This record gives sequence, structure tokens and C-alpha cells, in this order.
Amino acid sequence: MTFQAPKGTFDWMPPRSEWALIVRDALSAPARRAGYGYIETPAFEDTGLFSRGVGESTDIVTKEMYTFESKGGQSLTLRPEGTASVMRAVLEHGLYGGALPIKLWYSGSYFRYEKAQAGRYRHFSQVGAEALGAEDPALDAELIVLAADGYASLGLKNVRLLLNSLGCKECRPAYRAALQEFLRGLDLDEDTRKRIEINPLRVLDDKRPEVQAQLVNAPLMTDHLCGACKAYHEEVRGLLTSAGLTYTDDPRLVRGLDYYTRTTFEFIHDGLGAQSAVGGGGRYDGLSEMIGGPALPSVGWALGVDRTVLAMEAEGLLTERPGHVEVFAVPLGEEARRRIFPLVAELRRNGVAVDMAFGGRGVKGAMKAADRSGARYALILGDRDIEAGAVQVKDLTTGDQTAVPLAEVVDVLKGKLS
Ligand code: ATP
Ligand code: MG
Repeated sequence: MTFQAPKGTFDWMPPRSEWALIVRDALSAPARRAGYGYIETPAFEDTGLFSRGVGESTDIVTKEMYTFESKGGQSLTLRPEGTASVMRAVLEHGLYGGALPIKLWYSGSYFRYEKAQAGRYRHFSQVGAEALGAEDPALDAELIVLAADGYASLGLKNVRLLLNSLGCKECRPAYRAALQEFLRGLDLDEDTRKRIEINPLRVLDDKRPEVQAQLVNAPLMTDHLCGACKAYHEEVRGLLTSAGLTYTDDPRLVRGLDYYTRTTFEFIHDGLGAQSAVGGGGRYDGLSEMIGGPALPSVGWALGVDRTVLAMEAEGLLTERPGHVEVFAVPLGEEARRRIFPLVAELRRNGVAVDMAFGGRGVKGAMKAADRSGARYALILGDRDIEAGAVQVKDLTTGDQTAVPLAEVVDVLKGKLS
């Protein structure tokens, strides 16, 4: 019997897997430099946290969750997203009683039972950042700038930022009613009609052309924002511009989760086909109260690691080979192996990335392995070298080879590689 990775999942294998690490690191680096602390929460939570926190009417809760019963009879769900877990942890640990905002970042695996296709998986990876407990347009703008800087640091050129405001509990209800009134007059299927009553804003997000065609004259939140929301949004826009960001106002941008208020944004990459969102987020001022906490206005984002790697591939950025060693050691014989082994260990302790030939293959096979390893230099040790107390250092690009005394090889290689 053989096994395969379950549908909608895949293995990250070298060397491509190195890009996943690079992306994770690059997307989180700007937040780490901005005072966001690292948080790690469990991969599963009480099902109720997501059904209440993410929103009963979202696709995530209605059809995408991996829910199971524990042996103790508790309903648990593999986390489909990170925000609700972070909020739960902040409430559980009472962090909101200290200095605000609480700034946190995280990274890990998320699970959604989705229709598997390119860029849409059932197990995927995100980097997220959340700032909880402050209502300040500079905080919304900070997070957006940090995400944009993360993409830019990877060399991505074609990431676009879409921006919108979803209003607040003052102005959204009247808009919601106006939108419902408009939507009820359209020719829509049964499911969509139900959605009008539960979460009409999500109808605006319907991707079907026949639905979009009917939405041309739909009322927009932008035209219904209260004075406070309008001023807040203008401030966010001004701050983004001041930091050198360009964006497109998208009055139809709504997001998959129910808890968003005010600032909403998405990062789009046009090289990805239908799964074009590489990241997104927004303000969620009501989430804390929805899951039993105090008022804790907050803002955050989640960036897709898998899709960001695909975006880099689409821009031809996956060219250089990451994660390879710098030096490859080739012992010619058993005595040479005994001598070169501690040398390899010493080089590694000195920060040099070294691999060596294993399995006692002949010199030809070992040199082939050295070439394949991506190393710049091979260290070759034969009987004559042992007698001379030296090792051959071969530049694998030029083919030049010189004997270096064993006692000096660490310093010589460190010099060559610096
Ligand atoms: P989409 O509209 O593509 O379904 P979403 O609104 O559900 O995205 P979020 O919940 O905001 O996505 O997640 C943030 C990011 O995580 C997305 O922009 C995307 O890059 C990534 N992401 C979401 N779902 C998946 C998935 N099933 N497979 C791979 N990446 C995903
Ligand atoms: Mg989705």
C-alpha cells in the first residue's frame, strides 16, 4: 500500500521549500522591526471561537472548516485563520489591561476545506500581524505599509493594493438596509437571496459575471460613510501616500470574514489567475466583544505564503538557488574521511555552510555530488595531501585548485567566502 498527500495539500520539497522559508521570513521581517512580538497559538480551537469570531454566514464557517469531536466530546476545529485565535489568546491572558496597542505577529498552517486548485489549498500557510486595542489611522496605515514592504523586499513588482472602508456600527446599518433593498429587486438564485438577508455585503463580492452585471448600480458604502468614518479613511489614505504607497480605491472590496469594520484592504497579484489575492486584512473593531471581551478596536492582516511564492515564480524571481552549501568536502578513502570529518565540523562551527560526500563513492561520484550541491568550493583530501598536512581547495566555478595547509583552511575559506 502506498500513500499520497491528501487532496488539496502538497509537500514543500527542496530546493523550492527554501522559498517558503524565505517568504515567511521576508513577510514577517518588517513587522518584527516595528515592535510586533511573536505569538504562537494552537492549530485547533473550540469550534465556537470560529463560528462566532469569523462569522456564521461566511464561506469559512458554513462550508470550509475541518471540525471534529475530541475523545472528550468537545467540538474542535482546525484553525481556518489566525485573527480569532490571537484575539482569544489576548483576552485569555488579559493583555488588554496593559500597554496598548498590543502588537503581535505569527506564522503557521491554516486549514480550509476548499475546492482545491492552483493557489487554493486545503492546507496553506500564512504570515499574520495584528495590532489590538487602538483606534488610530496611523496603525491601519502602519500595517499596510509593513505588508507592502514585505512584498517589495522579495523583489515583487506587480503587487497592487486595493483599499476600502466598510464603515462602523453607526453608519453601516443604514447602508446595509439600503443595499438589501436594492439586492432584493435583482434576479438571483436561492442561496444568494439567503445571503442578502444574512450578510448582504458579501453579495458584492460574488465573482459570477451575471451577478456582477446586476450590481453596477448597487449603493456603495463609500457614499454612506458617517463623518467619523470618512475622516478616518481620509487620514489612512493620506498616511499611505506620505509613506510612498500607491493604492486603488475599490468601493466594492469586502472580505471573507464578517468582523471587518472601517479600513479594508487586499493585495492582488495579476500573475496568479483566479486566486489573485496574496494577502489582505482590515480593521475589526467589534470582534473582541463578539467573543466575550471588552471593546478592543483592532486591525490586522494575513499574507498568503504559498501564493506569494507563486507570485514570485510568475515574476521570474525563483532563479537563484537558495539554501545551498558553500563548501563540499570530498574525502578520498577512509583515512581521509576520518581527517576531514572534524574539519567539516570546525568549518560549520565557524559559520561556513558545508556538506560532504557520504557513502564511500569514488572520486567521480563525489565530485558530481560536489557540483550538484551548488557549493563554490570543494575540499579534496587524498593520501598525498594527508602526508603533506594540506587539503586541496578547488574553485568549482573556475576549476582552479590550490593546496592549503590544514591548519589554515578555516581562515582561508572564511576569507574567500566573506
Ligand atoms: P480568497 O478570496 O482567495 O478566498 P480569503 O479572503 O479567503 O481569500 P483571507 O482569509 O483573507 O483570504 O486570507 C489571507 C490570505 O491567505 C489570502 O489573501 C491568500 O493569499 C491566502 N489564502 C487564503 N485561503 C487560501 C487557500 N485556501 N490556499 C492558499 N492560500 C490561501
Ligand atoms: Mg477564501
